[in-house]
Amino acid sequence: MSLANAASGLRLVLFGPPGAGKGTQAQLLKERLGVDHVSSGDLFRHHLSTGTELGDLARGYMNRGELVPDQVTIGMVLDRIGQLPCGQGFMLDGFPRNTNQARALDESLTLANAAIDRVVHIAVADDELIRRLSNRYICRSCQKPFARDPATGAPPSGCDTFPDDCDIYQRDDDTPEAVANRLVVYHRETAPVLDYYRERGLLTDVAGEGAVESVNESLLHALGLTVEV
Ligand code: AMP
Repeated sequence: MSLANAASGLRLVLFGPPGAGKGTQAQLLKERLGVDHVSSGDLFRHHLSTGTELGDLARGYMNRGELVPDQVTIGMVLDRIGQLPCGQGFMLDGFPRNTNQARALDESLTLANAAIDRVVHIAVADDELIRRLSNRYICRSCQKPFARDPATGAPPSGCDTFPDDCDIYQRDDDTPEAVANRLVVYHRETAPVLDYYRERGLLTDVAGEGAVESVNESLLHALGLTVEV
């Protein structure tokens, strides 16, 4: 059976602190498994760039590294999930970020006779997260993250998806002050969600400090999916 068949309909939460590599891993899993990637941060950034009312509301919270209020966030993400074709799986990245959001997600899926199948926690130590976030650049078109050249410290030149028309930028919330606050918020409000899922037997931890490919192999292994030979 192919990986995509094995993963068909999978409802997954990719969990972890900012900078753990959730977005990078989600892109790779999307390519390998064909499962839709729903990133709450990307949804907010889309609202910011298109100048919607929701984007205006979210901007201040995002720039300070705080959580956007649940009244706004939960509806936005559940609406996006509701737009996916019926029975199709998805990978959530950046949501849920507190136990209230986790409960709202469960309640909404239960109404649709569905449930989260697995939560994979990508674990990375704080000092490594700070190093990664301060070196991180994002492509405005495809949202892929890229790092500075480790040897020269030079910013990345462009992305491989849109090499001729690529706008690489540093996120406003990757400033040292915002990063510090995002980590405080993560430990205070988001980390308790790990217990929520652990109690329900859904949580698997994966070490996230290795190379991107090897973390991806660990993720597939954690999901019980092995690469075809
Ligand atoms: P991310 O791209 O996941 O790091 O998210 C960027 C920012 O968007 C966060 O620092 C929050 O301000 C906001 N955000 C993203 N997801 C959520 C969420 N589930 N709950 C509240 N705020 C969120």
